[in-house]
Amino acid sequence: MPKTKKVGPTRGLGPRYGATVRKRYVKVVTELKRPHKCPNCGFVRVHRESVGVWKCGKCNFTFAGGAYTPATKLGAVARRAAKGLPVEEATKEAAKASAVEPATEEKTD
Ligand SMILES: [Zn+2]
Repeated sequence: MPKTKKVGPTRGLGPRYGATVRKRYVKVVTELKRPHKCPNCGFVRVHRESVGVWKCGKCNFTFAGGAYTPATKLGAVARRAAKGLPVEEATKEAAKASAVEPATEEKTD
């Protein structure tokens, strides 16, 4: 009697790379593979086209996002910064790391 095999993103990997790494891989890949909500039409039809490129199957809206998720926290911070909106407290630290401020250093003699 053949036993039922566990099927998941790690199929084909077998016992390799260690349980922790495979577990992380499952988490990332399941999020990557599941359909996401379209920021344009609202339908849950967004799939990854390429690394960081996301496309809606409903309205063909293509946009840049995270490598494994359509939107990242850092991406949200960057968008706010680009719009010139104030950055929230919780995301301030991330903004510090990402914000590219125009260097307008003035010499004070
Ligand atoms: Zn759409």
